[in-house]
Amino acid sequence: MNYTAEDELLIGRRWDELVASCKRAKICRNEEDWDFIRRAFFLAKEAHKGVRRRSGEPYILHPIAVAMIVVNEIGLGVKSVVAALLHDVVEDTDYTVEDIEQSFSPKIAAMVDGLTKMAGVFNTEASMQAANFRKILLTLSDDVRVIIIKLADRLHNMRTLGAMPLNKQIKITSETIYLFVPLAYRLGLYAIKTELEDLCMKYRFPKEYEEISRKIDDTESERQAYIEKFITPIVEVLDRDNIKYEISGRIKSIYSIWQKMQRKQISFEEIYDIFAIRIVFQALPFPSEKTQCWQIYSSITDIYTPNQNRLRDWISIPKENGYEALHSTVMGPDGIWVEVQIRTQRMDDIAERGFAAHWKYKHATISQDEDELDKWLKKIRNALNGPTENAIDFLDNFKLSLYTSEIVVFTPKGKALKLPNGATALDFAYEIHTNIGNHAIGAKINHKIEAVTTRINSGDQIEIITAETAHPKPEWLEVVTTSKARQSIKSFLKREQQNNIERGKQMLSRQLEHSNVMLNGRVLRKIMPAYECRSKDELYSKIGAGIISLDNLDKLLKENASKKILKFWKLFIPGSGSDPNIEDDNADALPSAGTQQEPEFVIAECCNPIPGDAVVGYRDTEHNRIIVHKSNCETLTKLAAQFGRNIVKEEIKWSQQKAVSYLTSVELHGIDRAGIILDLTKIITSDFSINMRTISIQSHDGIFEGTISLYVKNTEDLNALLDNIRKIKGIESVKRLINT
Ligand code: MN
Repeated sequence: MNYTAEDELLIGRRWDELVASCKRAKICRNEEDWDFIRRAFFLAKEAHKGVRRRSGEPYILHPIAVAMIVVNEIGLGVKSVVAALLHDVVEDTDYTVEDIEQSFSPKIAAMVDGLTKMAGVFNTEASMQAANFRKILLTLSDDVRVIIIKLADRLHNMRTLGAMPLNKQIKITSETIYLFVPLAYRLGLYAIKTELEDLCMKYRFPKEYEEISRKIDDTESERQAYIEKFITPIVEVLDRDNIKYEISGRIKSIYSIWQKMQRKQISFEEIYDIFAIRIVFQALPFPSEKTQCWQIYSSITDIYTPNQNRLRDWISIPKENGYEALHSTVMGPDGIWVEVQIRTQRMDDIAERGFAAHWKYKHATISQDEDELDKWLKKIRNALNGPTENAIDFLDNFKLSLYTSEIVVFTPKGKALKLPNGATALDFAYEIHTNIGNHAIGAKINHKIEAVTTRINSGDQIEIITAETAHPKPEWLEVVTTSKARQSIKSFLKREQQNNIERGKQMLSRQLEHSNVMLNGRVLRKIMPAYECRSKDELYSKIGAGIISLDNLDKLLKENASKKILKFWKLFIPGSGSDPNIEDDNADALPSAGTQQEPEFVIAECCNPIPGDAVVGYRDTEHNRIIVHKSNCETLTKLAAQFGRNIVKEEIKWSQQKAVSYLTSVELHGIDRAGIILDLTKIITSDFSINMRTISIQSHDGIFEGTISLYVKNTEDLNALLDNIRKIKGIESVKRLINT
């Protein structure tokens, strides 16, 4: 269908607007630049001739609109405008990349090629798949501008989404929220990010969207009156100081209000920070921008009391995406907390237009920021090429690493590192090097020794203490936040598990050889229950890790398959009624050995007795088992007070078998000194070959205290270990924890 005269008029008018925008932005340096843009327009118009969008308007209006966004809202230059005008030409028409290269330049052809490839990923009819994201991120081209133009394209499609059928709306909004919003955030394009979110919500949750936007309108005059009251004294001071500024009350986006309502389970009316006050001022050449921002902050906090905990200095250390501003929350009139954002005109431009604005202010085409962005893209590509993660894992990590706001911490030498909010010392360790993470045993956070799992905060200076013998623990996975740390730990544990299995299998078969027994299924079936293992891999890996010792394997094999040796704990009641001190008031409730089914012994989790401890049994009649507590256990005391008849009267003894290690914890105090952790771990893991499960050391003002949980065979071994630990220089006291 050919365009009508009316269509032509509309196209001409939009084209004039684009020309005016280019003039205003002063992107064309010479006639050649203008010629480029003009030729791009005519080529695109010719290529899309007669084609209409779903809304009915001529197709060419779409590339013009994208070019307008590129120049007006993002602030890119001539090449980007040209590429934006041509972005759908190769995808949708008979023109080829070679045609573009001939008519324009290799650079522009490469950009259009990148845009075409990205379109290919999205235009598939297949439903949204994580694999597609992976693909698109892999095509994230070498030229950042391609991604930015793609964003502009998506923004215009979102603005005109109403013309699309519902299924398309769902597909497009999902892609937008999963991929383009995080990208816009990462590129520092806040205005676009916010608009995309709002548009997604508008199409996916129209009722909620309408409701919040109506409530914003309804409360408008009330809010304006408050803002007026709030800013009046500020305006006075700023005028007095001859500052050129703009001050405004900024409403939060509908989407972010909605998110907050859901996150905090509160109503619209309960959100107090629905708006923020923004002061954008023209910085003088002197003193520094930072100083001028703090001067304004100072004037404001003379008027309103600031909330200490909500001061954000994004000037001293800008966000990873380049955002700079000073945010403070102050107590306004009527007891309302109000956020105040202070920034210079330059900072504001960057906040609104992201990296493009950086280039403008740096007067350079390749700036440091572009390097930064390249580094980020490289990181993403590396992550994508990582063999261990599947696409869904990757997506989660991708979103994680994009959404959480960053903290900045420092190495001992003062190098700043950015980490996601909530990061632990371990994340820091892995960020520096995988080997440091894998051998981390503690961290000096601001010169105090803490556990590596300690959460770190912005401004912390961190030194990681490593030990050759230390290695990642499964529970680390629950505390780390960066995908790098998580991946490294996972792959270490996997390797370790495999090694332990191998080692354990070898150890077992060697030990069996001594007894002239073949390692086979029959033998495994016999010994697995004795060690309470459900699978042979579990058995092997526990042997390999030293949790199960094979010292008594011989005995175990000889004892035959009697029920008794199937008891993992090897606890037994010698004779019956052997303790005359316990009054026998309920004899018929007791099992008389041999006649009834032998009960199972279970170690109480409240006190974790180990062989050598004095223990008392508590009968769990329901499950026909005896729970074994330390005789001085508090829980046992409580139970005994209530259900005294369930206390087993007979003395319970540990057998001599040393097959299994038991988990226990010790507590240490001492004077902090360099190398103390190393000495500790050496004695535990090397001298005593004892497996540590966790170690946590806190240090305050030169004094440290800590707990170590480890696997020991009996009290004898434990006491020998404690004696040796006591000899370490600096250790003041060490004792077994009562309730572990
Ligand atoms: Mn397009």
